[in-house]
Parts: sequence; structure tokens; C-alpha cells
Amino acid sequence: MTDIQATRRNFLKTAGASFAAATLTSSLPAQDAAQKPFGYAIVGIGGLTRNSILPAFASMKQARPVGLVSGDMDKARETAAKYGVPEKGLYTYETFDRIAENPEIDAVYIALPNSMHAEYTLRAFKAGKHVLVEKPMAISVKECESMIAAGKEAKKLLSVGYRLRYEPYNQEMIRMVREKELGRARVILTEAGFNIRPGQWRLSKELAGGGSMMDIGIYALNAARYLSGEEPVEVMAIESTDHTDPRFKDVENTVTFQLKFPSGVLASCVSSYGTSLNRFCVHAEQGSFELRPALSYRGIQMNVMKQGKVEPREFPAVDHFAALMDDFATCAKTGKPSRTDGTDGLNDLRVIEAVYESMQTGQAVKLRSHEPEQKQ
Ligand code: NAD
Repeated sequence: MTDIQATRRNFLKTAGASFAAATLTSSLPAQDAAQKPFGYAIVGIGGLTRNSILPAFASMKQARPVGLVSGDMDKARETAAKYGVPEKGLYTYETFDRIAENPEIDAVYIALPNSMHAEYTLRAFKAGKHVLVEKPMAISVKECESMIAAGKEAKKLLSVGYRLRYEPYNQEMIRMVREKELGRARVILTEAGFNIRPGQWRLSKELAGGGSMMDIGIYALNAARYLSGEEPVEVMAIESTDHTDPRFKDVENTVTFQLKFPSGVLASCVSSYGTSLNRFCVHAEQGSFELRPALSYRGIQMNVMKQGKVEPREFPAVDHFAALMDDFATCAKTGKPSRTDGTDGLNDLRVIEAVYESMQTGQAVKLRSHEPEQKQ
């Protein structure tokens, strides 16, 4: 994600600097069980883990990294030393199941290529751990259903890493729709995209499950669902992919898709691996409000347009990953439902499968009507 990665790097400089101090205070002496920090094992030490997940612990209130899972033990040891993860918390993909014997690990955070999310979720539940899994939750509805069932059987929490649901600008957009600040919402426009570099797993259908729609378009879809607060009943999609471009031998580039919600709200959404797109907008009866950028790690901006005036609205910057992981820890410890639970992840996959069907057939796809699943 070119533009997003740039903001991420700047953010890391600050986060990295403050981490050393935080590690000192988090090497806690004996505490009673209720106060024990919530322990995460992070599965996969790729870009997201190194640049966003691990640095986020510096600004977290109640959790710490106590495990790392990687195919490369040298990388795991080096990363562990930087973030204070003990040697006994290091696992390979082969020894992963031994996390069951490590009481420090309360949850795993799965940051692997999409096609591996379901397998590691099932193995983690078998090991008796809670699971926070990156988006997309998995690469099919069927996989999502099996993950939800496994979580229920294990009596452990399953949540999806939809970080935008935990940051204040997107929450304000949701509040404005719910409280009808500018009247009822009529049209939602969401766009998410970046110009992808060649040579990565995101361009392999086997590993990613699809193209831009699975990776970045899911932000546009998830936002249309949480902004409307409803589940779509009809989906229509059109694709534009140049398959002679070596990046797109296997997966789609740009998709536009329309969603119809039971209340009559329409959403028009764009997903792209060819251009930078970063905007969520709600047009309501008495005005409009938008985020642009809407999904960057920092620097989200909001404007409210009413009666011919444009008013910016500002909120404090938060580390999305710290907010996400803190909330997950609270939910896992207290039994409070997660606002981005497995059903949320499953509902995105239902629509993504409908988007792919519509792209292929050129027809609208009707979806079974769902009660709103969205939690504030
Ligand atoms: P990445 O390519 O940087 O890292 C992937 C990790 O998986 C690497 O450590 C790699 O070694 C490991 N891996 C194990 N088996 C592999 C295989 N067969 N092929 C390739 N890699 C393999 O990817 P990333 O950007 O860290 O993405 C990881 C997950 O996080 C994805 O599901 C992605 O959608 C998600 N993500 C979310 C956000 C967000 O803002 N929430 C941002 C980026 C990525």
C-alpha cells in the first residue's frame, strides 16, 4: 500500500522510540491473575507484524507480546529481542500447536497470507487460545463458518482485525448516521485502492483468495456495511482487469460494486490495485459527511458539508492496532462481544462471493436478508 505504507513508516519512528520505555514498565513482577497483562502470540512476522502490530504494544494499556510464530527462527529471535518476547514464546509453523502448553499466551493474532487464516484459527482454538485474525477473515464463506463453529466449541473469542472500527473518525461517521445528524442516509460512497507492486502473495489467487477485492476492497465493503448498519440484499459488480499486465495473471485489478440495503440506502463502492483510493462519504437528507483519507493508519480527515458550508471535524489520533488489541483483550477477559466478531468477517465474505459471481455473470445477485449484525 504505497501511500498508506509511507504514513506507517513515519508513525513507526515514533512508536519504535517509545517502545523501549514501555517494555521496561511491562516486565512486570508477580501480579495477581486479574491484573496479569493479556498475552498475544503473533503468527507471521511480515510487514504488518513488524511495522504495525508489534510497535502498537508501546501504547497499549493491558496487553503485551509473549509469543512469535515464524518460519525463520533467526528473524523470530531478532524480533523477539527488540520487543521483549521471551525465548520460550518462539514457535515455528510446525511447533505452533505447542502454544497450548504456554499459559502466558492468551490469544493469537494471525497476520499470515489470507489462505492460511482458517487453518491457524482452527489450530489456535484447538490449543485453547482466543483468536484475532487479520482481514479478510478467510477466503470463503465456508472457511468462515468453520472458524466460527470452532470458536464456539472452544468457548473462545474470534474477532477480525478491522482496525477502522476502533478509531474515532470512523466511529463518528457511524454515530452521525445512527443519530441522523443530517437526516437519514441515502447514498454511501466508499473507495479503497492502491497501485500494487509486483511479486507478492497478494497477486496469487491461491494465497490471497482473490485480488483487490479481498485485500483492499474489503475496506470499502466493510465501511458500507458499518455506515449503513445493515446487511445488503442485492449486489451488482463490474470488473476491469488487464490480464496482459503481469501482476494480474491470476487476480482482479479494479472492481466497482453497488449494494442495496433493506432500508433503501444504496452504496457505490470501488476496489482497486491500480490506483490510490481512500475515501468514505455519506450523503444524507440535509447534507453530506466524508473521510478523506479514510483508511490510512494516521492523518484521517473529516469534512461535514451542509447548507453550502464545509466544516472540518477533528478527533485525537490513535494507534488503530493498539485500540483494536486493547478492545479484543477486554472482550476476551470479560466476555463482552467484539464489535468485529466472526459474523462480521463472514458477512463480508458473503458479499465478496456475490461480487465475484456478479462480475462473472453480469447479473445482480440477491442475498438473503439479514438482521443488522453491526455493533457500535
Ligand atoms: P507480508 O507478506 O508482509 O507477511 C506475510 C507473512 O507470512 C511473512 O512473515 C511470511 O513469511 C509469512 N508466510 C508464511 N507462509 C507464507 C507463504 N506461503 N507465502 C507468503 N508468506 C508466508 O504480508 P502482510 O502485509 O503482513 O499481511 C498479512 C495479513 O495482514 C494479510 O491477511 C493482510 O490482509 C493483513 N493486513 C492487514 C492490514 C491492516 O491494515 N489491517 C495491513 C496489511 C496487511
